[in-house]
Amino acid sequence: MDYHLSWDGTSTILGMDIVYDSHSNDSTVFIYGVPEAGGQPHIFDILGNVQAGNGERLNIIAAERKIIVHHVAPGIKTLHAELDARLVPGPRFRANEAFRPTLAPGFLYTRGYQLFMEVSDTAYNQLGIVWSKWPAHMPYLVSTNPEARPDELQVIAAEATTRYLFMMVMDKDMVITKSKVGGIPHYLATSKSDSTSGMLERVRFFADKYIPAIRDYWQDYNAPFYILSVIPFQNEVPAAMTGMGMSNGLSVRYRGPLDLDKTQLIAHETSHNWIGVRLKFESIGMENNWFNEGFNDYIAICNLVRAGLFSQQDFLDYMNKENLAAHYTSPVRSMPGDSIAPNFFKSKYYEKLPYHRGLIYAFYLDNQIRLAANGKASIRNFLQALYTQNQKDGGRVITTVDFTKAISPFLPGVDIAKEIDEYMLQGRLIDFHHVHLIPAFKIKYADTVPVLKVPAGVDIRDVLK
Ligand SMILES: [Zn+2]
Repeated sequence: MDYHLSWDGTSTILGMDIVYDSHSNDSTVFIYGVPEAGGQPHIFDILGNVQAGNGERLNIIAAERKIIVHHVAPGIKTLHAELDARLVPGPRFRANEAFRPTLAPGFLYTRGYQLFMEVSDTAYNQLGIVWSKWPAHMPYLVSTNPEARPDELQVIAAEATTRYLFMMVMDKDMVITKSKVGGIPHYLATSKSDSTSGMLERVRFFADKYIPAIRDYWQDYNAPFYILSVIPFQNEVPAAMTGMGMSNGLSVRYRGPLDLDKTQLIAHETSHNWIGVRLKFESIGMENNWFNEGFNDYIAICNLVRAGLFSQQDFLDYMNKENLAAHYTSPVRSMPGDSIAPNFFKSKYYEKLPYHRGLIYAFYLDNQIRLAANGKASIRNFLQALYTQNQKDGGRVITTVDFTKAISPFLPGVDIAKEIDEYMLQGRLIDFHHVHLIPAFKIKYADTVPVLKVPAGVDIRDVLK
């Protein structure tokens, strides 16, 4: 099934001609739009001008987001449709721009979520995407191949996960710079339309320092390429940022300068390329997001320090204000892991719970591993071992058994499965009054809140290297 796209470079209409084989089906059902992606209940409304081939009857059921094409005879068919992807301003501008196709004069941005349709015919396991009409010379970036031109067919797996990770940008102001990290081509996409925020100069540090630091952390140089796409929101809005992963990269949309929050967000999302994506902990609800989110967050900030993008004070502020104080004063700090999913979208406290709980446990384990190894190993060695073990296992989602197996050589005699059950799943707080830390870290309680300090003369860049 191939998508032939067309756009004149200025309008808000994206044309799609979907070419497919009807096989022996009497009809083919297309479903457009993913309402739950970025909260877009009315996404089907942007689809219009649907036309099928000669003699074929169309039945459109908007309530079910369905287009049913009744075929007269089997063969190669074309379904035409158009997306009106004009900007939707208002309070939900972030989701509206990040999770819907956006077209404006000289600008196109779309993810796979609200571009490709679900098809009833399961015979398709690949999708092709190619441009038939596009504005000549407009800078172009497609997540499947950063070197591709619009008229080069891109092929992706048709299943939902791969479709969702797809991204495409055409932007008259886009500047793509290429570098190499450990032999892997890295592409940084920015927009020269942003001349005031300082983002263009500062985001280079990510390409030049952070991504090399994190590849070095994992000793992972297996990737065809990596893309960091940092494109401003088209809506004139206050400072904001939204990030979403791609198969080999990260796309963020933003407004405003690269402050500490945005630095942390880009680092966290980039770091998900490993924890949370390749190394993912099995979860029925969100009870194991302590690993997918919290461990990821700890590794992300350790690498910000290693890359020189987080100072010692930034690290301490993040540990203390954003995590230890926030968690130990949270009204839901002791709630069990299986209560997170049902309350996640209702409560900011629950939303943060897996991040805080996991980051604090990662910090705790990092200290325990360092102490047990007399400073010759850290959480990094354990995670590398877990990653290597997981790749041997074919990259399947990990379980407590896998986690325990990889960590036990570093913490012999410790019942890690019991710790995970008590601290992560049941929600018992780690009591730092009774926890040994390495000499570089000291925790004193202020009332009920643990406060992390670094003794004078210690440089945590040396500790976390
Ligand atoms: Zn995350």
